[in-house]
Amino acid sequence: MDDCIFCKIADKKISANVVYEDGEVLAFRDINPQAPVHILLIPKKHIPSFMDIVEADKGLIAAIYKAAQKIAGDASVDKKGFRLVVNNGQDAGQAVAHLHFHLLGGRKFSWPPG
Ligand code: AMP
Repeated sequence: MDDCIFCKIADKKISANVVYEDGEVLAFRDINPQAPVHILLIPKKHIPSFMDIVEADKGLIAAIYKAAQKIAGDASVDKKGFRLVVNNGQDAGQAVAHLHFHLLGGRKFSWPPG
């Protein structure tokens, strides 16, 4: 997608602070962190939102979850806890129309979320 900022990051046309990469998945630090650890995991292929995931993406989603486990360990939040968050659509505040998982940690979070 030509006008998608996360596709540009995946294609290395825009720089990002990358913490993890494999053939299908890229993870980089959020530019506006909401916690001491705030990392975004994206599929390299363009999927606009969570609701656009299809059956054929199941291996890709598993790869994102496996990457999230590794990143949580690397960031030392695996034992104390962290959140993995997807904002889908307007009411959830999704600002970038390329599927991304927020991995947030390094502080206590309240529930229910704001
Ligand atoms: P969401 O509201 O779930 O769509 O989250 C989008 C996230 O992308 C926000 O937390 C932004 O701070 C983050 N973001 C936007 N542009 C960039 C960028 N160029 N590099 C890193 N994070 C970004």
